[in-house]
Amino acid sequence: MAWRVGEVTITRITESEPEISLADDLGFWPDATADAVNAIQWLRPHFVTPKGDLRLSFHSLLVETPKTRVVVDTCVGNDKTRHMPAWNQMHSDYLEKFAEAGWTRESVRGVLCTHMHVDHVGWNTMWVDGRWVPTFPNARYYFSRQEYEFWTNKAGPYHEQLPDSLRETMESSALLVDSVMPVVDAGLVEFVESDHIISPEIRLLPTPGHSPGHVSILIESRGQRAVITGDMAHHPMQIACPAWSTVLDTDPVQARKTRFDFYERFVDTPTLVIGTHFAAPTAGRIVRDGETYRLAV
Ligand SMILES: [Zn+2]
Repeated sequence: MAWRVGEVTITRITESEPEISLADDLGFWPDATADAVNAIQWLRPHFVTPKGDLRLSFHSLLVETPKTRVVVDTCVGNDKTRHMPAWNQMHSDYLEKFAEAGWTRESVRGVLCTHMHVDHVGWNTMWVDGRWVPTFPNARYYFSRQEYEFWTNKAGPYHEQLPDSLRETMESSALLVDSVMPVVDAGLVEFVESDHIISPEIRLLPTPGHSPGHVSILIESRGQRAVITGDMAHHPMQIACPAWSTVLDTDPVQARKTRFDFYERFVDTPTLVIGTHFAAPTAGRIVRDGETYRLAV
């Protein structure tokens, strides 16, 4: 699956495409009851199954401009010890898909992580000869300074209030060791502000709330524009219901405000909105739908 934005090509490569029962979603979206989700009819068939399960996707977006190649978000990764069973010691064919897309690891010039959660930093590194090495040895890895400082400094009210069950997933000590510090130690990281310009076509857009330094990615070329959401919304139901935050948002009030601001900015414009966890077809336009919004695919 790929999209063209002016002279830029954006290609999706998937690591996993789970269907999640609302009964088993661990309360990730506390407001998303079965009745509330069923009431949003446009979510079917792409984003909700006939049974009423949520379709999700974990993918990287490969952004190719005339002069550079950038990977946006690096999924869960292989061989990593993780709290969630589905993600623990994963062995996916991600690198084969990467090659099928016509990319080599060595040809990547930039890596962007929208935030530092386990499903966005995994393929920053790979396990080779008994150690974690950068998967993309010739890339600059652009990390939001604010995000890095939040997760490496574990003091503060958010960290203290985390239930034990989430701490292992979210406090990120494992991912810092196996997916962040190896690229820092290799000298490949540039710590940047949340509105950093990566190339003439690619810039960061601050979308805080899910995490403090969370960013979306704006892509503009020849008068055309796309935006990659990151986890400011995980599922298109949060376009219909922007007030639905997740239990993992570090600042749910800010996360809500970010979603409303984001939709108001792009509603009824030609901007292609590409979801970081939206199931296929993954991208569409935000259109006004009564008092709220819809993703037109
Ligand atoms: Zn995510």
